[in-house]
Amino acid sequence: MKTFCGRANPTTGAMEWLEEGEDYDYHQEIARSRYADMLHDKDRNVKYYEGIRAAVSRVKERGEKAIVLDIGTGTGLLSMMAASAGADFCYAVEVFKPMADAAVKIVEKNGFRDKIKVINKHSTEVTVGPDGDMQCRANILVTELFDTELIGEGALPTYEHAHKYLVQEGCEAVPHRARVYVQLVESKRMWSWNKLFPVRVEAEDGEKIIVSPSEMEKCPGVPSVCDIQLNQMPLSDFTILSDVVTMFSVDFSKPVRSASTCYRVQLEPLKSGKAQIVLSWWDIDMDPSGMINCSMAPYWVKSSSSFQWRDHWMQCVYFLPNEEPVLQGEKVSLTACRDEYSLWYNLQKVREEENKADIRVESPVCRCQAHLLWNRPRFGELNDQNRTSQYIKSLMKVLKADSVCLCISDGSLLPVLAHCLGAKQVFTLENSSVSCSVMKKFFRANNIEDKIKIIEARPELLSSSHLEDKKISVLVGEPFFTTSLLPWHNLYFWYARTAVTSHLASNVTVLPQSASLHMMIVEFQDLWRIRSPCGTCEGFDVQTMDDMIQNSLNFRESKEAEPHPLWEYPCKSLSDPQQLLTFDFRETVPQHCLSTEGSVNLVRKGKSHGAVLWMEYNLIADISVSTGLMHISNEKGNCEWNPHCKQAVYFFSSVIESETLSDLPSAVTYAINFNTKTGEITMDFKPL
Ligand code: SAH
Repeated sequence: MKTFCGRANPTTGAMEWLEEGEDYDYHQEIARSRYADMLHDKDRNVKYYEGIRAAVSRVKERGEKAIVLDIGTGTGLLSMMAASAGADFCYAVEVFKPMADAAVKIVEKNGFRDKIKVINKHSTEVTVGPDGDMQCRANILVTELFDTELIGEGALPTYEHAHKYLVQEGCEAVPHRARVYVQLVESKRMWSWNKLFPVRVEAEDGEKIIVSPSEMEKCPGVPSVCDIQLNQMPLSDFTILSDVVTMFSVDFSKPVRSASTCYRVQLEPLKSGKAQIVLSWWDIDMDPSGMINCSMAPYWVKSSSSFQWRDHWMQCVYFLPNEEPVLQGEKVSLTACRDEYSLWYNLQKVREEENKADIRVESPVCRCQAHLLWNRPRFGELNDQNRTSQYIKSLMKVLKADSVCLCISDGSLLPVLAHCLGAKQVFTLENSSVSCSVMKKFFRANNIEDKIKIIEARPELLSSSHLEDKKISVLVGEPFFTTSLLPWHNLYFWYARTAVTSHLASNVTVLPQSASLHMMIVEFQDLWRIRSPCGTCEGFDVQTMDDMIQNSLNFRESKEAEPHPLWEYPCKSLSDPQQLLTFDFRETVPQHCLSTEGSVNLVRKGKSHGAVLWMEYNLIADISVSTGLMHISNEKGNCEWNPHCKQAVYFFSSVIESETLSDLPSAVTYAINFNTKTGEITMDFKPL
């Protein structure tokens, strides 16, 4: 069997479907999975164990046999907890074949073969009866099927089915209940992830303001969840407008309904302000009394002593369809609607007649298309006025009254800036029909639709007629392309620049004139957990899982770097930042590979978990923008990262620890290779 995997080709900027062996898909899934992170989540594990012990005792006290159904067993962990707590038998259901196979091995290794039956099925396919997968219905239902939004992984339909067909009435459930909490806030920073703010351009002939079409301003955006590490959001970046309230709760021990529904609460604003964002998280009670509680509450809500870092459960940011002014003390009502898998929010002024009215609110759908073209970090980047001003300053330096400008970037504001700053003629190459359509609306809203020509063509198909037989004197790019995953994928700009060479004037200015790849060795505060082996978890040997992850990581000959938005994951620098390679956009892409080798000294003590890599763009000689490190803030080496971009993280296979600087190793060697044929970068690091 073959699997086709979609991957962006950095040399063509296009999505390509690559044929991979049948193993590929699951290796990728396991190597990048959250299983390790869950097994490192001590708080979660301890509380599940306590909850399971309590549920088994309650059943035993009633004189019944304890029959457990564990849906989504993964490594088999929760079933092993149940068996250890004295359960008579456990049915451990796991739909993902490689995990079910691993669970069989782990259960066996830990000596629970007689007590736990692993069933490799989706729970809705499980049969009950003398010839079925399960002999009888279970009286304890254990699951861990939650994502950051609680219901996004299909917990509700799974529970609904299990109560109908797989468990007894009045069964015990671990967790027993979940509660979803909300808090209303105003936040320019978060609001900038869903709306485009007016852009100010100080041109020589006065200030110009670029606005977005009203259609975009009114658009609610896309329904996909925005889950982030809210604990990295400083209090200065938002204003709290309401108390934390419970939006709804689910009792997992009773039949669950997954059908779409709405919930409504009244809020009394603590402050006047603009209601823009609903922050949300959940907690679960492992037992009916609520004594064993596992909470995702952010730092300003819960005490730091109960704090557990985790990446598999974070917090959610919901964007209200429009910002609503609220007055202190004047009640508003907040509606949460959900379907089987997702949630969305709406805010209304409280009026009596409305209380009785049907409160069903439609799920947000992007009608303006901008939310399809720009994801949330991209909105944030376009709204970053500091960044924009670097581009403005650079464009002002290079543009002349007779400049013919070609822009190559997806859905960029650069063509508008170039026009405002006095270019004689501006062309923009747009890769997709969505970006063409969004740019068209954008230009129309600013009355410049006849000033900028949109060319819907791939660079290699650009013809003189597209350019009205003109030669390009200024070629610009941010660069930014929607298909880029890793920082260097935006080097597609270089390939595009190479493809359009015949259309460039001999004295063309290319902006950015070059890019450079940078690297730094870091110690992560927490992110290391997601790729670190567990060994044992609550006394159970889960090394089989570690081996399986390691095997999947080694599946490709060279380990790959992975993208992470590091503003969410604190780390400290252990080396100085190092420039590794430069890419000269004034020249075409060379035929040969670009590579470099060297070593970087460790300047602080700590654990070298890995290397972070990012790109910097040198717009003109003395102006550059970084998509990675912004600065190192203090003598401890705390790093500040570009909040709109993902950086590349290469985790070392073993952690290099240096307690004192005189300890070895004091340096890490590297070998980096940029393959100009594939556009990919491979790398290798070794402690010296
Ligand atoms: N119970 C483990 C793993 C939880 S991860 C632990 O707590 O450590 C959730 C697992 O559930 C995943 O492996 C996923 O493949 C599986 N899963 C989700 N829904 C399922 C369903 N309805 N039936 C069977 N497996 C399911």
